Amino acid sequence: MDLTEKLSILASSAKYDASCASSGSQGKGTSFGARTPSGVCHSWTEDGRCISLLKVLYSNVCRYDCAYCVNRASADVKRTSFTPDELVEITSQFYRRNYIEGLFLSSGIFSDSDIVMEKLIETAKKLRKESGFGGYIHMKLIPGTGEKMIREAGLWADRLSANIELPTDKSLQNLAPEKSGRVILGAMEETFNAGVENNEDRRKFNPGKRIIVPAFAPAGQSTQLIVGASPETDKTILNLTGALYRKYGLRRVYYSAYTPVGIPGGDGIPDSRLPGLDFSNNGIFSTPSLPNRAPKALLLREHRLYQADWLLRFYQFTPEEVLEQEENLDAALDPKTAWALRHLDFFPVEVNHASYNELLRVPGIGAKAGRRIIESRRSRSFDFESLRRLGVVLKRARHFITASGSFIDKPEDPIHIRRLLSGENVLQPELFEF
Ligand code: SF4
Repeated sequence: MDLTEKLSILASSAKYDASCASSGSQGKGTSFGARTPSGVCHSWTEDGRCISLLKVLYSNVCRYDCAYCVNRASADVKRTSFTPDELVEITSQFYRRNYIEGLFLSSGIFSDSDIVMEKLIETAKKLRKESGFGGYIHMKLIPGTGEKMIREAGLWADRLSANIELPTDKSLQNLAPEKSGRVILGAMEETFNAGVENNEDRRKFNPGKRIIVPAFAPAGQSTQLIVGASPETDKTILNLTGALYRKYGLRRVYYSAYTPVGIPGGDGIPDSRLPGLDFSNNGIFSTPSLPNRAPKALLLREHRLYQADWLLRFYQFTPEEVLEQEENLDAALDPKTAWALRHLDFFPVEVNHASYNELLRVPGIGAKAGRRIIESRRSRSFDFESLRRLGVVLKRARHFITASGSFIDKPEDPIHIRRLLSGENVLQPELFEF
């Protein structure tokens, strides 16, 4: 098989991994999440830059049989593997020609975990040392890989990720029986500990330059969770997410709406271990013809989870605040507005006196606008027009704020506000303030 065909197969096999933000996209030529057939996808960095990555598997040969995966052992798909030299060659060429700024590298489990991990590490090491590749590398941690390999991987990759895949051990046992939550969390813990120790060593040794300690996975670690392939509620998912951020310092949890993965060229019927076609709650699967796209209701659920995730990471919400009595996020409202309507006693917030944390609770005031209000308030007071100019979305905020004691218009009852604000922010990119 020639390299072009290998690349086509192994890039296509990698596209369902969401830990690179554009996974599973259909490549319609939009700037958000566009993919080309050759496996170049776009992803967002921490500072909001859009970068292009070559997203491939080292191999799509896999011993595991995860029901949701197109590469599962029982799937009848064409199999192939790169060698480290082949992958180094392709990546270096793409990089030199400015097609890509980085590599997203994962693999099926074609042998013992440490042997697979060794191949990924060898590829990254050759790229760095022999090809002078200075681009971004996101490397997957193969389930079951040992401490030594994790510590080695972090020396060559910018980011590491161990996919948690499903929210509970029960669902893992059902859909990915060879995987274990304990093992996956163990890899996250090891990565976290290695990062903490590396930071200490770099603080200790690097300033005087007696020894230069290289950075360990400077872009931290992330994970992916599949939504809709198992019966867990949003509450279970967000509680897990909160714990992962708290305990293992993850930079990102990526949510991936379950995409029915039929066998290309086959009958399109997914693994029978997947839940049945249930249209009633949060739209599990929407069509018996099972195109390789997540149904709309699941994409909306994924979007609401991303919004809730932002509340945890940037708006100082806890999972217990985002979902209190409810088990699932409100499909019609963004989770911050849903919280505000459940806590009308907290409002109105007076923008000229409120603390930063209080401002963050207002729908329509983002973290950036909140900071600007606090900074500018030292020398001025705000009216509604100046808030609008600062970036406050008055369409939402107007129901929850006063400026020097005045409302924009008289307070509305919650049912009316809900009606006015329902359906906002549906299926837009996750990079917004709310
Ligand atoms: S381990 Fe599971 S998810 Fe990963 S490639 Fe193999 S079957 Fe797919």
